[in-house]
Amino acid sequence: MALKRDIYRALEDVVGPENISEDPVILYSYVPLRPSMEKVTGVAMPRFEAVTLPKDTKEVQAIVKLCNRYGIQYKAASTSWGGYSDPAAPGVVKLDLRRMNRILEINEKNMYVVVEPYVIYAQLQAELMKRGLNCNITGAGSNCSALPLAAHSNLGHLSISGSYGERNQLALEWVTPDGEIVRMGSLGALGEWFCGDGPGPSLRGIIRGNVMPLGGLGVYTKAAQKVYHWPGPSTFPIEGVSPRYAPGQIPPGFMIRYYSFPSLELMEEAVCKVGESEIGFILMGFNISMLTANIATDNEEDLKYMRQYTDMVQGPGFLLIIAGNSPRDFEYKKKVLQQIIIATEGKSLGPVEDPKNAGGFMWRFIRVTASIREVFRATGIFGGMVSGTDVFPLMSRYIQYGAKIKEGFIQKGSIHTDSIDPFVQSIEHGHCGHGELLIRFFLKSRESLEAQMGLSAEANRLAIEGHFGVGHGVRGDAQHDQYGPHTSNYHLWLRKIKKTFDPNASSDAGGYITVKE
Ligand SMILES: Cc1cc2nc3c(=O)[nH]c(=O)nc-3n(C[C@H](O)[C@H](O)[C@H](O)COP(=O)(O)OP(=O)(O)OC[C@H]3O[C@@H](n4cnc5c(N)ncnc54)[C@H](O)[C@@H]3O)c2cc1C
Repeated sequence: MALKRDIYRALEDVVGPENISEDPVILYSYVPLRPSMEKVTGVAMPRFEAVTLPKDTKEVQAIVKLCNRYGIQYKAASTSWGGYSDPAAPGVVKLDLRRMNRILEINEKNMYVVVEPYVIYAQLQAELMKRGLNCNITGAGSNCSALPLAAHSNLGHLSISGSYGERNQLALEWVTPDGEIVRMGSLGALGEWFCGDGPGPSLRGIIRGNVMPLGGLGVYTKAAQKVYHWPGPSTFPIEGVSPRYAPGQIPPGFMIRYYSFPSLELMEEAVCKVGESEIGFILMGFNISMLTANIATDNEEDLKYMRQYTDMVQGPGFLLIIAGNSPRDFEYKKKVLQQIIIATEGKSLGPVEDPKNAGGFMWRFIRVTASIREVFRATGIFGGMVSGTDVFPLMSRYIQYGAKIKEGFIQKGSIHTDSIDPFVQSIEHGHCGHGELLIRFFLKSRESLEAQMGLSAEANRLAIEGHFGVGHGVRGDAQHDQYGPHTSNYHLWLRKIKKTFDPNASSDAGGYITVKE
């Protein structure tokens, strides 16, 4: 279904002929042909009707208004890294925000930044480090948009010290689903970016909670977020050639370790103690396979390291980086850590602390470069189980249930053979926690796909019956309708929000919720 000519021309008038396309070559580059996936799932993947590249808020607003007027849908995306940037059905126009790529402000004194959607974390973090600052980065990788509203929850490696999207979000410029421009928080009141709420009633809870609406509620064109202190050097020079590269030296005051524990209980205790004492800069409860993906340069090497490291650990573990703000602070943090590790019987994994590897690991975790290898390299696709955000041991327990199911799949050979342990992480120095279980399945195998779907169904059942809360992966009508009745009927409120702010249902709600009664 091509767009009617008058609609196409109206959009073209907004962005200019060089910034709009309906050429199949372009449309297929946004949502590629995946014949094996479509064959196994039996679901055809829709493409966009046209792709537009607006250059600023005014052009975004004009496109949104046109879509409302002509009764067509639109979907905005930042770097389009995730599949949820794809259209849910035919008839959708894409707003690709790649031309909106400026860092608008780095406020060193008040420690916030303002970015447009196509600034990526790698770029922002490098600029911040030059000024003694650092930002939280989504675990999806520093190749993603630095807008916390583009990242779904925005949890990542640095969240123990740098929190996550919901908490870092400050003032915002929002083109509402029907094309109004709303400047939220201190931006609306004072023209300043430092605060996301008020004065007076705030709309912050409308545009996001723990997660965001995945393109289902208009377009975010500029956003401010909190940034944090960076105790390291202003640049991080590296040596070697990709894929074998590492920083020339480990910055003074930095230390990286992977600790394993004899039991899950002891690991959880250690995580809580690291949180209470506020000594962690990065803490990720990576399992061994996610750790080895960070240094292996191909699948065979990955499996080799995985076997080798698995033999060296005593049970579940976590990756920890500590960073001292001064030599005294560094010594203090090391001493506290030593006491925690003795009390919880932790064991350091030799190859991570080996100076030959430590720098490479450190670079990959601080710059968050390895997510693609962690999830995609083995089989090209991943799935699994994703918790919400709640107290750390609760999230850890929830996600451990999935491990048993995964073990069964591995024994049957339905999925890639890797570590069974889930990964869990601590946020804001243990203030809360999150967990995920990664499975890498085989796209061409129905049995493998069914394993993934079975795990998903079981994860939902468990979350609801065990009162573990709403996971970050819950999206779309069917899942919200499944969870809502057990969770204060939130789905009814979410629908009311969608209906009120998007009266013409213009903002593609495939990843959010539709207004169906
Ligand atoms: C391999 C992988 C690992 C991941 N790991 C994590 C993780 O550890 N932690 C985590 O929090 N998330 C994770 N995610 C999800 C992740 O947050 C997002 O994929 C990523 O941060 C999105 O950034 P992006 O720039 O690519 O956004 P896009 O893919 O461009 O967009 C993501 C969603 O947000 C919407 N959106 C984007 N920008 C705008 C905008 N300006 N206005 C309105 N809507 C917009 C899009 O419509 C889409 O639904 C992962 C995803 C993948 C594929």
